[in-house]
Amino acid sequence: MYYGIEIVLIFVLGLIVGSFSNVCIYRIPRNESIVYPASHCPKCRSNISPKDNIPLLSYILLKGRCRNCKNKISIQYPTVEFLTGLIYLIIYLTYGLSVQTLIYIILSSALIIIAFVDLNEQVILGVLSLPGIVIGLILSFFVPYISFINSALGIIIGGGIILIIRLAGSLIFKKESMGLGDIELTAMIGAFLGWRYIIISMFLGFFLGALAGIILIFSKIKSREDVIPFGPFIVMGSFITLLWGEKIFLWYMGF
Ligand SMILES: [Zn+2]
Repeated sequence: MYYGIEIVLIFVLGLIVGSFSNVCIYRIPRNESIVYPASHCPKCRSNISPKDNIPLLSYILLKGRCRNCKNKISIQYPTVEFLTGLIYLIIYLTYGLSVQTLIYIILSSALIIIAFVDLNEQVILGVLSLPGIVIGLILSFFVPYISFINSALGIIIGGGIILIIRLAGSLIFKKESMGLGDIELTAMIGAFLGWRYIIISMFLGFFLGALAGIILIFSKIKSREDVIPFGPFIVMGSFITLLWGEKIFLWYMGF
């Protein structure tokens, strides 16, 4: 049984956390503090007043422009806010009011920040993924839905497969296919989701990445030589898996 008020609250919580995630996405790779100074327009540096800092709503009311200088605000801001709200909501509807929901919404916010930083700067935030590996492993002692062995295997298989691809890429194709950051990221996701789900996540990640690569090359947005970051796709794969992994697994076993 779900009540309307809970659904609204969890979505609004996601919007607020998403708004804070935007600050992290911009500031962490620049080594800036995430709490100080207050939000300001990146162009004219004018402070953004609280009424212009309401997630989603302010962007719509201001028609995507700074109130002061009319500079365009990146569509990434409302996108991250809406995406976080939506994912929080679907996690809640899937796992109910539980510890699993709490852990998964925190995990999903870390993954959203990592994915957008990778998209913008082509770097995986080790400052989030490395502690994430340890936290995921420690949590497996206390939560009922994943065992310690499963979490440890998730780290080894997740990181290991990407490491093998990285080594094969540099030996056979003489170029870097996967970064060390990708290994840390898959190991972190493996720590939270376990060995079966990390395999499904990676499979979906490669599939979505290849699909996006083909579309981008055919539409001439990117050339064959361009590097397409893997982070956003493994994150997408892991979201699909943590929400519908069991259904995907059963469907696959049905063949
Ligand atoms: Zn401005």
